[in-house]
Amino acid sequence: MFSYYHLLLTSLVVISDEVVASPSFSETPSASLSVPLKICQFADLHYGEAPNLAWGPEQDRNSTRVMNNVLAAERPDLVVFTGDQITGNNIVDNATAVLREVFSVVESFGVSFSSVFGNHDDMCLDPPSRDSITSRSSLLAFEKTTWPKLSRTCLNGCPNLLPSVSNYYELVTDTSGKPLLALFFLDSGGGSYDETLFANVTDWLASTTLKLRNLPSLTFIHIPTPQYVDATTSKDCVGMMSDGITPTVGQNNLIQVLSNTGTARGVFTGHDHGNAWCCPFLSLSLCYGRHTGYGGYGDWDRGSRVIEIIQNATARDGIEIITYIRMEDNSTNSLQWL
Ligand SMILES: [Zn+2]
Repeated sequence: MFSYYHLLLTSLVVISDEVVASPSFSETPSASLSVPLKICQFADLHYGEAPNLAWGPEQDRNSTRVMNNVLAAERPDLVVFTGDQITGNNIVDNATAVLREVFSVVESFGVSFSSVFGNHDDMCLDPPSRDSITSRSSLLAFEKTTWPKLSRTCLNGCPNLLPSVSNYYELVTDTSGKPLLALFFLDSGGGSYDETLFANVTDWLASTTLKLRNLPSLTFIHIPTPQYVDATTSKDCVGMMSDGITPTVGQNNLIQVLSNTGTARGVFTGHDHGNAWCCPFLSLSLCYGRHTGYGGYGDWDRGSRVIEIIQNATARDGIEIITYIRMEDNSTNSLQWL
């Protein structure tokens, strides 16, 4: 695996669906995740805007170029899509065909991927129409049946936490198969229902962290929580802060549940396209990804947050985690240890 250390060394110099069969969760990717592990976070791609005008398909081609450039430079082990893969409220005909465009880019590199939903993926057609929604469940079923060997979403099953859908976790092991780290993926709502982390989701998270005996963890969601606002008072924030924070509605105890473990290391969101920072908060770091897509609002330069997880006996809980932003033009910035 090409790591950032190597880099440092070298640089010293709807919508009507396609027919979707019922989801099959039995065909699983062959290899489990183990360290060293490199993750690229693709945030807010917003494919499918203005499909009948020139600028819509053009911005999708630009987003494809961003992903291609990042994947070629980083060669990650896993891509995490943190929501708003598509802009469902602009897609007239076929949401799953648009989603196919998104995931096919990663497929062409043979890289596994995990996804959560954002507030636009299953949003009503604008203006609202009876046939305008491809549900989260339909989108998930399409992902699982189309990429049974690459999709790791709900790989070990997803609990029934309706109305939210993409809630699951996966373990990262050492080379002997011993669990080192948990990756949590949570659905923060929006689109066909409220932008919130429902109590059944955070209750499931709390019981799961207990079951995992407070294994260190990273958590991926689409919409930041209200604690993101509080975190910005830290003097140790790193990264672009050019946007407001629009957190989930209502109180939820996500960050408290994670902090209570004493070992949680980071939360990664998208949603606010002009933010790409990490700030320490309680015992973990609250981070944004980098706006990856040319779809969605804002003209900030595009890129991807990269997360590298390395086993290191001298690091906190024996796990060293670094993160930085890889830009479309191949430059990097905002290197930080979590
Ligand atoms: Zn977005």
